[in-house]
Amino acid sequence: EDQSADIVVIGAGGAGMTAAIQAVQDGATNVVIVEKMPQTGGNTTRSTGGLNACETSYQAAEGIEDSVGLFVEDTMKGGKELNDRQLVTVMAENSAGAVDWVNEIGGDLSVVGQFAGASVMRIHRPSDTSAVGPMLVKALNAKVEALGIPVLLNTRADEILVDEKGAVSGVKVTGPSGAYTIGCRAVVLATGGFGANNEMVAEYKPELAGFGTTNQAGATGDGIAMAKAAGADFVDMDQIQTHPTVNPDTQTMYTEGVRGNGAILVNKEGKRFVSEMETRDVVSAAILEQTDGVCYMVFDQAVRDSLKAIESYISAGIVFESDTVEGLAEQIGVDPAALRETMDVYAGYAQAGVDGEFGRIDTSMGSDLTTPGFYACLCAPAVHHTMGGVRINASCEVIGAAGSVLPGLFAAGEVTGGVHGANRLGGNAVTDIVVFGRIAGSSAERYLLANG
Ligand code: ADP
Repeated sequence: EDQSADIVVIGAGGAGMTAAIQAVQDGATNVVIVEKMPQTGGNTTRSTGGLNACETSYQAAEGIEDSVGLFVEDTMKGGKELNDRQLVTVMAENSAGAVDWVNEIGGDLSVVGQFAGASVMRIHRPSDTSAVGPMLVKALNAKVEALGIPVLLNTRADEILVDEKGAVSGVKVTGPSGAYTIGCRAVVLATGGFGANNEMVAEYKPELAGFGTTNQAGATGDGIAMAKAAGADFVDMDQIQTHPTVNPDTQTMYTEGVRGNGAILVNKEGKRFVSEMETRDVVSAAILEQTDGVCYMVFDQAVRDSLKAIESYISAGIVFESDTVEGLAEQIGVDPAALRETMDVYAGYAQAGVDGEFGRIDTSMGSDLTTPGFYACLCAPAVHHTMGGVRINASCEVIGAAGSVLPGLFAAGEVTGGVHGANRLGGNAVTDIVVFGRIAGSSAERYLLANG
């Protein structure tokens, strides 16, 4: 049976649900979300870190001095200057508003922490130290429901239809009842990345063939294929990020917050080998250079108590633990004297607030790692985020291969390229989806009004 809507949002992850809510908040009355999986949330549900934002009331309350300029520079540096500076600036300028918006719809981002690549404490997280993704998806789900926005689950978008003038006219989908068309005048493409599609990953970055991934099964790059067929242009498709601290057996990602709150990385020889707060590309490359291409992330009880996520790793059985450093070393097959030496030297650095070996940022040395028990997690890099994607402008309009806007087609989130350049900073994905999800929703509604 064919249907119609004003705006069809493809993908019910963070960017898609945000866009749908914002469009309705701006006055749209007939918005439909299609989601191919049996549930909403996408990779956003798996997001553990938080939302980077500058010049917020929460930073001010802690006396943290930050600015749009500093946020932009950190993000450009992290992305090796490959980022689209205009998009990065839009993200930074709207970041404080994104925190407020999430809190207004019932979310909780009120504690500020330190993440890699950030010059100051900038990542905003839930007050109960829990992971950001489930909190955000729960708030978005509730708001989508409260606003009465239909979410068609188990419904995959297959094709974006355009009319003879090249303007969006509908979406072909396959749902539980079979294939049908939803006629519409605007589409927000929010299908996420392609990290779970190793064939596609390897096509753009051959050295990642066979790598594991932190991504949910639906992150297969459908949106890239649909946008290509609709005539979109693409940027930075070969820029694919690995997350450095992923359990190689279970593919569980240990959030960067464990390091941000104090954990160190040691190799099989029991030695540190990099500043744990370097960007993900640098830490990943350093791990691959160690014996067997793996390392252990080591922390103490104080770090465990600072982060709820750690409890889930412990109950999953993927954390070694012992009352003593030597006992821990024996469990992981590292020379106890070597690990003892590393821990003693590091304790001195943490107490002095200066990492004499690798220059790790002092705000990430919250523990001197001397409080029993002691913990270790086996880590190796796995495919995490696809930085490249559909080319958009600052209004989230999709740019066609010929350089002009594709009328009625908008995109936001991981399906787009340009915001993160060659390397995404932890905490910037959630900023990306909230800031650009909102802009895409507003732009789609404005397009409808202008093209009455
Ligand atoms: P972002 O962080 O950009 O919001 P997510 O991974 O959180 O990305 O969400 C993207 C969502 O889009 C996922 O829930 C995914 O299952 C969904 N999706 C991907 N491809 C399609 C498709 N062809 N049709 C409908 N939904 C899709």
